[in-house]
Amino acid sequence: MRHEPLNLYSLTRAELQQQLVDWDIKPLHAERLWKYLYIDLVSSFDDMPELLPRLAQQLRAHTTLGVLPTALETASSDGFTRKYLLSLPDRARIETVLMRFTGRVTACVSSQVGCAMGCVFCASGVAGLTRHLGPEEIVGQVLRARAVLDPGEHLRNVVYMGMGEPLHNYAATKRSLELLTHREGIAISPRYITVSTSGLVPEIMRLGEDFGGHIGLAISLHAADDATRGALMPINKKYPLETLVAALHRYPLPKRRRITIEYTLVLGKNDDTSEAHKLVRVLRGLPVKVNLIPMNPIETSTLGPPEPRRVLAFQRVLYEAGIACFVRRQRGDDVSAACGQLAMIGKKPKVRTHRA
Ligand code: SAH
Ligand code: SF4
Repeated sequence: MRHEPLNLYSLTRAELQQQLVDWDIKPLHAERLWKYLYIDLVSSFDDMPELLPRLAQQLRAHTTLGVLPTALETASSDGFTRKYLLSLPDRARIETVLMRFTGRVTACVSSQVGCAMGCVFCASGVAGLTRHLGPEEIVGQVLRARAVLDPGEHLRNVVYMGMGEPLHNYAATKRSLELLTHREGIAISPRYITVSTSGLVPEIMRLGEDFGGHIGLAISLHAADDATRGALMPINKKYPLETLVAALHRYPLPKRRRITIEYTLVLGKNDDTSEAHKLVRVLRGLPVKVNLIPMNPIETSTLGPPEPRRVLAFQRVLYEAGIACFVRRQRGDDVSAACGQLAMIGKKPKVRTHRA
């Protein structure tokens, strides 16, 4: 029977040491290997000259670094956003988006190929779920992002807002979070990582318990009553608003931290100021900030964004109720690079392309 090679980026440091022990190699040799993987960011076994020869031999025979080749790279005309379409070993493709603000870079990662949640305004939802990503494929996106930074740039934030529902793929999401925050590894601070979810209540609570509330949480709310939300997001039938909001009240949020509420404004569906007033009532007593996102049109739907005037009117209601509220500018619209947008359906400009 042929075994799949072990992806080194799927292992915690302790597991890497154990693997060496299984090969009858002293665990202290894991240290140099770990540095090659996470400090030197090597992309080939040839770039690890200082390893014990027997370890190098075992690695070549049984493991892979699983570097995700870039199939397509596009940059927005304003230069703020770059999108990388990455090829997976089974030919599936995922996208990772990089957003740059004054040297600080945010990587928006995918957690699944497609998505099972079926939100009507979302290209991933319309496409359906192809498969979950493994933790190494989520971490691999962050490593790709690091590898393409310009000098002086620093990858500070990671947001799970690309393709897929991260909490539907909880095990891989959890492990990827452990790997991303490992102090001697990629070492991204949990507070600079945000997991966005359409509202899978049991997994929200697990995330809170597993990470003590330190990982940032974003909730895709998009509506303030069950009828409206259910029409946009089928998951609302399983976890209605009241259940979801009750879970948010119980979430172990550290002091001075806030939950991000995402609200995609869809013309004629959830964008009336009466909805904004309802939203104020629903969010009462919760430490939140609200991001309003005028919907990015997708090819398979006639739904679209409201005009800016309506967006501002909606924002004003929240603002006057004392809720921090931002309109997210859709940087990178021209590369359909706004998070949650899918390469396979969105428009693709030909700014820059190259082969893997
Ligand atoms: N599945 C998770 C994370 C990925 S989607 C979630 O739903 O939260 C990331 C964000 O992009 C979500 O808030 C989602 O509602 C939003 N989004 C998806 N499609 C969009 C579109 N066409 N226009 C604007 N926002 C969209
Ligand atoms: Fe899935 Fe999020 Fe898209 Fe809904 S918005 S279909 S949960 S990716």
